[in-house]
Amino acid sequence: MDKRAPWLLTLLLAAVLTSSHAIAAPSFKVIASFSVIEDLVKRVAGDDITITTIVPIGQDVHRWELTPPNVLAVEEADIVFYNGHGLEPWIRHLEAMASDTLTLMALAEMADYAPLTIPVGQHKGNPDPHMWMAPEGAIAYIDVITHTLSTHYPEKAPAFQARADEAKQALKLLNQQLTERLEGIPQTNRVLTTSEAALGYFAHAFGFEYAAIWGLNSETAGSAQAMETMSKRLADKRPPALFYESTTPYIHMDALARETGLTLAGPLYVDTLSAPDGPAYNYPAMLRHNAELLHEALGGARAEE
Ligand SMILES: [Zn+2]
Repeated sequence: MDKRAPWLLTLLLAAVLTSSHAIAAPSFKVIASFSVIEDLVKRVAGDDITITTIVPIGQDVHRWELTPPNVLAVEEADIVFYNGHGLEPWIRHLEAMASDTLTLMALAEMADYAPLTIPVGQHKGNPDPHMWMAPEGAIAYIDVITHTLSTHYPEKAPAFQARADEAKQALKLLNQQLTERLEGIPQTNRVLTTSEAALGYFAHAFGFEYAAIWGLNSETAGSAQAMETMSKRLADKRPPALFYESTTPYIHMDALARETGLTLAGPLYVDTLSAPDGPAYNYPAMLRHNAELLHEALGGARAEE
């Protein structure tokens, strides 16, 4: 055997790796406003597109303030996927600075899924932005994402469509599994109470009565009047548990739990995924975690014994 072969092979391998790396690095760049939208865009985009996410995991999407790196990333991108219906008040700053070639796509506003209204607070009666909390809502987002990406990058359209079909199948299955799991909670216990009114779509999809202290995290949360209204409701309803969310202040629901003697459970994940080693590491995991928490806190497990 030729003694030069090993180092020649190494050189050749290095050349192949370098060139394949150059080919693999996608030149298409899009922005996702927060982690849930990043997850859904990635399901369609695969490795064909570089996705930069504005609001980091764990931060509140409602109250984010744009940073210089955010602005720089948007300047280099073709599309900004955001939720809309007022979820990201900071998006108006991007709209003001957007070039003619930048597409701003509000998924909830373009989705073929009936919006619900915010039931309480300063934005009462406006469309509720948290549409992704129902799997069918997320499926409607996937359709908008697929259409938008395919229009911008037609050479990748077949790949986008294939991934989208697979993702939608998986989400339909998730919807079915969550429905079955949550049916284990007795009808009288199917009362969902949270700080922000972010679970309206979830409650509607899975048959829960729903109430929250305030409407959106971007408003002045937990006024004395809102707390009193909720306190009266809880005294009347006496649900098995109250819930807090990962990005809302904990003190309000904790105060209500102490006052009423009701159990406090959480966190539910809504406006952000968790870190990769947490329970809501992706979109399906987020909904599964929430469903398991409800199942446990609202007596689903006891009902099966
Ligand atoms: Zn929210």
